[in-house]
Formats: sequence, C-alpha cells, structure tokens
Amino acid sequence: MRDADFFRDWMDAATAAVERDADRLTELDSPIGDADHGSNLLRGFVAVRAALAAADLAATPPGRVLQLAGRTLISTVGGASGPLYGTLLRRAGKELGDAPEVSDEQLRAALDAGVEAVARLGGAAPGDKTMLDALLPAVTALGGSSYGAAADAADEGALATVPLIARKGRASYLGERSVGHQDPGATSSALLLRALADVAVRADGAGA
Ligand code: ADP
Ligand code: MG
Repeated sequence: MRDADFFRDWMDAATAAVERDADRLTELDSPIGDADHGSNLLRGFVAVRAALAAADLAATPPGRVLQLAGRTLISTVGGASGPLYGTLLRRAGKELGDAPEVSDEQLRAALDAGVEAVARLGGAAPGDKTMLDALLPAVTALGGSSYGAAADAADEGALATVPLIARKGRASYLGERSVGHQDPGATSSALLLRALADVAVRADGAGA
C-alpha cells in the first residue's frame, strides 16, 4: 500500500527531475513552441514542493496530496501545460478520495482517470504530438506491469513524437514544420513517470 509519504516523495522526485532537466525542456520548446516549458514547470513544481512541505501530511492523505499538487500547478504555471498537468493530478487525487493508503491498482485507476481528464480538457488524440503520447502508453503499460515498465513506455512514447505533425497546442501552428522535433510535454510526462518508478523502487526496496 502507498501512503501520503510515498506521494510526497513522488512529487519531490518530480520536482528534482524538472530542476535537472528544465533547460532541456525549454530547448525542446524552442523550435516548436515559445521556449518556456522548462521554466513553466520549474516554477510550478518548486511551488508544489513548498506547498507539500507546508502541509500537515498526517491530515493530507494520498488523494489530497495529489489534489494540492494539481491546484498548485494550475495556479502557478502560465502555459498550457499547467492546467493540463494540474488536471491530471487533481483528477487522479479525487479518484483516490480520502483513503490513508492506496493500492497500486487504485493508483493505476486514478492515473487512468487523470489521463482521460487531460484528453477531455485538451481535446488531443493519440498521435497529435502532445503529452498524451507519453501518458497514454504509460497508463496502458501500468495495467499489466510495473512502474518501471510504465516509465519505459512513456520514454518510448516521447521519442515517438519526433516524426509526428503537431495537431494541438502552439506547435500545431507550425504544421508540417513541427516534424523532426520531440514534444516537450511528452518529454516532461516521461520525467514524471520515471520519478514515480524511482520512488516505487525505493519504497519497495525498503521492504515497505
Ligand atoms: P505553452 O504551449 O502554453 O507555452 P508549455 O510550453 O508549458 O505551454 O507546454 C507545451 C506542451 O503542452 C506541449 O509540448 C504539449 O505536450 C502540451 N500541450 C499543449 N496543448 C495540449 C493539448 N491541447 N492537449 C494535450 N497536451 C497539450
Ligand atoms: Mg511553451
């Protein structure tokens, strides 16, 4: 079972990954966007870390941790990715409710609901060269396998955006000129999934 600490550790690991890769995310957003994806997410996740550090975790079960993180992203990230990632985490958090601990199967179902909410909000379909191209294969992989496999699927999904034509978001303004570039949002989604996999390995290794 996964408790509130696990979810805060996930968000902290995600923040660390965004800190590490912010420049790369912004570089990816330069040819097919407005060169702000890394700085957008950095501002958002640093605020998430601060919000969770200030929260009373004993009174903040897993679902509330994700909802707080999602709300914080929505209120601090200016770009399209803020409301989308915020919706992912808020929706997943609502799905988990107020249970003090959740199973891996409950987490998988919650992420599934979160990704569906992202698709609804953004109106993107698979292959539109967005974060969904990493998120959808990840939640599919999670159904039959481990968090590591989900992170691998997200990495592959992000790489597979390179030859695609963008059909949503700023990159879509470029039409065919968006071909040959990896989608920044799919890349950051892969970071979030890798952070989850790393935290799960640590938690399971500790015999928790
Ligand atoms: P902005 O495009 O407003 O500058 P960001 O640069 O932070 O916002 O994020 C861009 C990323 O957001 C894209 O790489 C893409 O993955 C994702 N994105 C944009 N629009 C959509 C959408 N409608 N549905 C899903 N993802 C989207
Ligand atoms: Mg941008």
